[in-house]
Amino acid sequence: MDTKIEANMEGEMVTTKLAADLTTDLTTKTVGIVGLGLIGGSLGIDLRHRGVKVLGVSRSSSTCDQALKKGAVDQAGENLSLLQAAEVIFICTPIAAITPTVRALIPYLTPETVLTDVGSVKEQILQEVLPLWSRFVGGHPMAGTASQGILAAQAGLFTKAPYVLTVVDSTPVDAVELVANLVRSLGVNLYFASPQEHDRAVSLISHLPVMISASLIDTCARESHSSILSLAQNLASSGFRDTSRVGGGNPELGLMMAQYNQEAVLDSLAQYQQSLEKVINLIKTDNWQALQQFLETTQASRPNFLIP
Ligand code: NAP
Repeated sequence: MDTKIEANMEGEMVTTKLAADLTTDLTTKTVGIVGLGLIGGSLGIDLRHRGVKVLGVSRSSSTCDQALKKGAVDQAGENLSLLQAAEVIFICTPIAAITPTVRALIPYLTPETVLTDVGSVKEQILQEVLPLWSRFVGGHPMAGTASQGILAAQAGLFTKAPYVLTVVDSTPVDAVELVANLVRSLGVNLYFASPQEHDRAVSLISHLPVMISASLIDTCARESHSSILSLAQNLASSGFRDTSRVGGGNPELGLMMAQYNQEAVLDSLAQYQQSLEKVINLIKTDNWQALQQFLETTQASRPNFLIP
């Protein structure tokens, strides 16, 4: 296995980018997916393109039909028993349904079955799931769109996107290897992190932006002068589209980010509040030179977060 999970001086795991392992034959693999929405459906489409057999479970028969039509699954059904033949099962439900889904799946698993999820938060999920199923590898694809459901599923959603696997000391190496090989085949940039590191990092670059962007929309929508509000709505263009995108997405996802990553999100918001207060003070005190320096520093820092 070419995986490398390194410890830093403090003994914490550090994220490590992995090279692709092209030796594994995926055409012999059978994968299960629970939750045939945007992420589950898109995973199914791409895994099938790589020759993997995909079995999908949804709570509704119409979603099963749509998933079959879209080519996201080889077989679909409403009963978890369909997944008895799967070696690996991706749980692609909303975060709150992940642990209940693991509990409901247990009667249908063999001792070797590997479970993985795609939830945007990791520490609490691992705490809940590991006592139920030790062959669980936490995962999080850093890809999405503003749409939800099977009809939003698309090919190539994960190509070149980061995909994080969160492993802990007890995670079986062969389970990590199996999930890593499957997701690598999608053309992702694979990283490893501890659940805690993952949750702090995504709080900064994913969960904090949702809260800031939602607050921006709220500020604009609360404009009390109707003529100004109407003009602002007419003038809003690409800048507003960019900055409001994540705040105008799936409310359920934003709520779960805050609920399941509460401590890290509050830490990030406190740091953001400090930054905002600094900007307010600079503007209040006509400190244009310091404001220019601040904006030059942020301009220089941005590319560090947008590594191609
Ligand atoms: P989605 O499009 O709404 O799909 C979720 C699917 O889960 C639905 O199709 C639904 O299928 C099923 N589901 C809903 N509630 C359920 C419940 N209580 N029990 C069992 N199944 C249930 O959402 P998504 O965007 O794919 O998100 C799914 C997961 O991906 C979440 O955990 C999220 O944190 C993670 N994620 C999302 C993004 C993103 O940008 N969207 C990015 C990375 C990770 P049926 O109604 O057909 O059963």
